[in-house]
Amino acid sequence: MPTDPITPLGSPERPVRVAVVGAGPAGFFTAEALLRREAPVFDVDVLERLPTPFGLVRAGVAPDHQQIKNVHKVFEKTAAHDRFRFLGNVRVGRDLSVRELAAHYDQVVFAIGSASDRRLGIPGEELTGSHAATAFVGWYNTHPDFVDFPFELGHERAVVVGAGNVAMDVARVLLRDAEELAVTDLGAHALEALRRSRVREVVLLVRRGPGQAAFDVRELRDVAELKGVRVSIDRAQLEAERPRLDELEPVAKKRVEYMLELANAAPKPAERTLRLEFLASPVELLGDERGHVRAVRVERNRLERTAAGELRAVGSGDAFEIEAGAVFRSVGYRGAPLDGAPFDPRAGVIDNRDGRVVDGGSIVTGQYAVGWCRRGATGVIGTNKADAQAVADRMIEDVPRLRPADEARRARAAVDRLLSDRDVRVTTFADWSALDAVEIASGRERGKIREKFRSVDAMMNHLLRSVGGVGAED
Ligand code: NAP
Repeated sequence: MPTDPITPLGSPERPVRVAVVGAGPAGFFTAEALLRREAPVFDVDVLERLPTPFGLVRAGVAPDHQQIKNVHKVFEKTAAHDRFRFLGNVRVGRDLSVRELAAHYDQVVFAIGSASDRRLGIPGEELTGSHAATAFVGWYNTHPDFVDFPFELGHERAVVVGAGNVAMDVARVLLRDAEELAVTDLGAHALEALRRSRVREVVLLVRRGPGQAAFDVRELRDVAELKGVRVSIDRAQLEAERPRLDELEPVAKKRVEYMLELANAAPKPAERTLRLEFLASPVELLGDERGHVRAVRVERNRLERTAAGELRAVGSGDAFEIEAGAVFRSVGYRGAPLDGAPFDPRAGVIDNRDGRVVDGGSIVTGQYAVGWCRRGATGVIGTNKADAQAVADRMIEDVPRLRPADEARRARAAVDRLLSDRDVRVTTFADWSALDAVEIASGRERGKIREKFRSVDAMMNHLLRSVGGVGAED
């Protein structure tokens, strides 16, 4: 029965109905921040295009960083709340439009992350063997979109462009002894390819200097401490930084100090090497007769201070070549537009002002953005907790000014009916728990943490064959 519309919105009898689009960390932290409140009362549906939740916690965090994935326990607590629902396998923009969401919910929060990657914009980028790091990350994490990607690791040297934590993840996975990864949740397909890999050296091209790298010192330490792997850095280049150490921010100073330690240490016996090339930018990828990458043409840079005080890399004109059979561009993620949501193409985010969605300069009442699709692809998983809290605070503040959705439409059953009329097979959190159990059992058989389903079809077929079918009640 529809509730009497004069019952105040946000009361226990008439909770604010919220759709969160995207079940990654930003989406879950937002749900948590809303559900924790005693007043106003919220009822949260988290919609996700995959049948499985957790976004980059499942498909981004590297398999040898299991402790970071433990945050799923926090998300499971949120999911156990009786005013929370997970609606998996629902693609907003195809199965439901943004306009329909706005009609069925009082508030809509986009937490869709940054679905594409930044490109280098240099000749040869389209050659085979030139990859987006994001595709490699999706591949080793068995993301259904990337699992069949043919990564050739048959050459001795790979180049990674960029100096962020993703670049370090890629380098570490390429260099680590595959047997150490065999016990993790690395996909069986990736394990097989990494076991066969002939990569012995990964060259990280960093366009600016040691003081401006973006990776965390602990990520470099993780690589330096790997069995059979050494880090090679030009000592003279680093020593040149020593007199300027005190001008650096504490985090950057620590990073350079650690690199100085590495550069001055006795060489570690190793079969594989991570080489850090500072002040170096790729200007062209060179191909062989098959159209496959064979080398990278690299230009030396110098640093120039901009009017705003930033240090910028400027090409010096000196160039050299590095032979390599694979190139991974890891120069940041970028948001992709979602049909029906205003997009800021310059920033690559959903157009917003402090989390409130903006269209043509005006606030769109009841619509919000959170996480990477709000602020761009920066920060670690925990950063999204504070971000989510800030956006949730704005949502709470806005409740008295909302135009509530039509009473009949804002019922849970109305959305369910719309989706079932369209033959969308929605997965619940109980369905995810069933899939989770299968993955863990299948991993156990192989002596590893988990073996993930490789495709959405495989997940859906499993659920259809199981007792409850798809849509088992939570
Ligand atoms: P990022 O931290 O933004 O790093 C991007 C890197 O690419 C920077 O070093 C940047 O150099 C460089 N770059 C950009 N354009 C370039 C170009 N045209 N040519 C050469 N280099 C270029 O991005 P990310 O590594 O993708 O990581 C995204 C976020 O996820 C980060 O906040 C990261 O900390 C987080 N993350 C964390 C972990 C972890 O905690 N373990 C793991 C993965 C990701 P400039 O500085 O010169 O622009």
